[in-house]
Amino acid sequence: MDNFKYHTIIIGAGLADCNMALNLHAKGEKVLLIGHPNGDRCSSVAAGLMNPIVPKGVASTWNRDYIFSKIPSYYQSLQQLLKTEVLQQINIHQLISNVSMRNEWQKACQKTENKAVVDQLEEDVFEIKSVYRLDVSLFLKATKRYFNELNAFVERDINHADIRCDNEIQYAEYSSDKLLFCEGHELMNNPFFNYLPLSHSSGVIGEYSLDHTFSKEHIIRRKKWCIPTKNETYLVGSTFVNNDFSVNPTAREQNEIEDDLSNWTRSFQRKKLKKGLRPIVGDRRPLLGRHHKYSNLFVYNGLGSKGCSLSALFCPMLTEYMINNGSLLPDVDIKRFKHTDYTA
Ligand SMILES: Cc1cc2nc3c(=O)[nH]c(=O)nc-3n(C[C@H](O)[C@H](O)[C@H](O)COP(=O)(O)OP(=O)(O)OC[C@H]3O[C@@H](n4cnc5c(N)ncnc54)[C@H](O)[C@@H]3O)c2cc1C
Repeated sequence: MDNFKYHTIIIGAGLADCNMALNLHAKGEKVLLIGHPNGDRCSSVAAGLMNPIVPKGVASTWNRDYIFSKIPSYYQSLQQLLKTEVLQQINIHQLISNVSMRNEWQKACQKTENKAVVDQLEEDVFEIKSVYRLDVSLFLKATKRYFNELNAFVERDINHADIRCDNEIQYAEYSSDKLLFCEGHELMNNPFFNYLPLSHSSGVIGEYSLDHTFSKEHIIRRKKWCIPTKNETYLVGSTFVNNDFSVNPTAREQNEIEDDLSNWTRSFQRKKLKKGLRPIVGDRRPLLGRHHKYSNLFVYNGLGSKGCSLSALFCPMLTEYMINNGSLLPDVDIKRFKHTDYTA
């Protein structure tokens, strides 16, 4: 294989892209990762939480037991490849603010399927176990460094009109057998896959110094989660606003976060606020699959607010699909949406 010829070119350098690059590479593929020079507008903002419980209604996340059984070994194998520790197991302490909320959490504790996941610690504190956290910024940095050392990471804003799809893919000086798009909310600019019903939801996360009496070994959650970081600060968030493209956090979003904090800490000091755009699909399932006309084009997107946990199941699945003609779960296969003809 010559210098500019690859098995797979991946467009994007966020969480989806980095996960897929490592999975394909681990299976022996020669991979080229191409991402915007000014980074992403989602992954670098993410808190990296993998929480098995949906707080609203105290319900299990989709496919919880299966996905959560995959997370530790999946990220441990990526850690070994990157020689960098990015995964942490950390429980959540859920603070209760009223009687009906307490009743709801007590009911959840009594369910057999939740025995290993939820526990009551005190009258107004419940614990969620089997929670993991990915240090997303470190993971992205380590992955880009890994591919950079292989001369397989390029910072470039690609123009889809420059992509040629025949038996082989041609893009600028590069060629490949396959091309995978992991462009987050920017999928809407992609003429091959913009028929897919992707929207977005913005989210703000803040970094704070806090003064409180709870253990610093846990994530604390009232309405917002509050995650201790290695540098003695806390990440607090997040907010959700649908179809908002704005770049800067608003006063309203800041108040939403800080109103919750002021209910349980004695004081807090804001360090910074960051805003990102989550790629969302109406049925809340990710988008995986192959283009209906160009069989060497693939997509991985629609990770919503669960990119870290979903990748542990779906990156190995998509890798098998792309390399060995493996199958995809119908719930996530883009075949569930009617395609339109390619119009680029
Ligand atoms: C505030 C907030 C908190 C979150 N917290 C969590 C959490 O705790 N746990 C969790 O699992 N998830 C969380 N998420 C969601 C998570 O961030 C997403 O699921 C995930 O980052 C999506 O990754 P992605 O790679 O699909 O998209 P992005 O991160 O948007 O990456 C897309 C990439 O494609 C590149 N790209 C696009 N178009 C082009 C082009 N034409 N040329 C070159 N490059 C291109 C972009 O530059 C970028 O690198 C959070 C999100 C937000 C906003």
